[in-house]
Amino acid sequence: MYRKLFHTHNPNRVDLHIHSNRSDGAFTCKEIIDYACKRDLKAISITDHDDISDLKSAERYSKQKGIEFITGVEISARTKPFDLHLLGYFFDYANKHLIDYVNYFQNERLKRAKKIVQLLKNYGIRLSFDLIQKKAGQGSIGRPHIADVMTEEGYVYTYYEAFNKYIGDGCPCFVPKYKISPAEAIALINNAGGICVIAHPGTDVTDEELMNLIKVGLEGIETIHPRHTQEQVNHYREIIVKHGLLETGGSDCHGNRKSHVMIGQFNVPYSVVEKMKAWLGI
Ligand code: AMP
Ligand code: ZN
Ligand code: FE
Ligand code: FE
Repeated sequence: MYRKLFHTHNPNRVDLHIHSNRSDGAFTCKEIIDYACKRDLKAISITDHDDISDLKSAERYSKQKGIEFITGVEISARTKPFDLHLLGYFFDYANKHLIDYVNYFQNERLKRAKKIVQLLKNYGIRLSFDLIQKKAGQGSIGRPHIADVMTEEGYVYTYYEAFNKYIGDGCPCFVPKYKISPAEAIALINNAGGICVIAHPGTDVTDEELMNLIKVGLEGIETIHPRHTQEQVNHYREIIVKHGLLETGGSDCHGNRKSHVMIGQFNVPYSVVEKMKAWLGI
């Protein structure tokens, strides 16, 4: 189902999982759309973490460039002990409840980033909050921005060292995020007219949790993802067939932070989009 894309002609492939600089990706939405066009994708979805603020202008730009744009978001939901990521597709980005949630969440993220910066002081790491905010720009502020500033200011040699020693899950300066429950996240997306899909379950979700998600209304599973093995892809496909769910996939591209531009390099056929539309009756 997935095949490597470079600069070949791929008129029927889509990438449904891409991050922009509105969350922790390196590129603007325009740059992402330009890349997607260069790689001849038929459709893309930009799925920023808890941010939908640039979807309107990205949609407009996609229209100009002649590539189909599917509204997307990646919502962090609560499970113990860490995160679970839910992808929303085809929702109305002008939905008031969704906008209120995103605004509330971003403010909680801001408070959390300040707490992390405060904790880092105990380890002799003094960061300017302005610098971190500048990195985050207008989107969701998060640990990647803090890790970048720690690296640039010479407190760690690499972005990864910042996570491994200080701010990674369970590390001394880790502060958990405010999160809604998976059922609330699914309802939020559904009420805004969208479909809710579990992102990369193979990285952080047990099968038991997955069954609970299906019980509360999960509609699809992301199978194609850079961190999924072929065995995991096959395993999730069996669950999809058994429970009559949708299948999605994408590159989870964060820009060049992960060594090269992943856009389109993990992809699914356009029939995936057609099935989603049929599901929604659009
Ligand atoms: P946040 O939403 O602020 O908790 O940041 C989560 C993001 O941080 C993830 O999407 C990853 O991009 C990055 N991240 C989390 N843990 C690590 C880690 N151990 N190493 C590198 N990046 C990480
Ligand atoms: Zn991310
Ligand atoms: Fe994710
Ligand atoms: Fe992602």
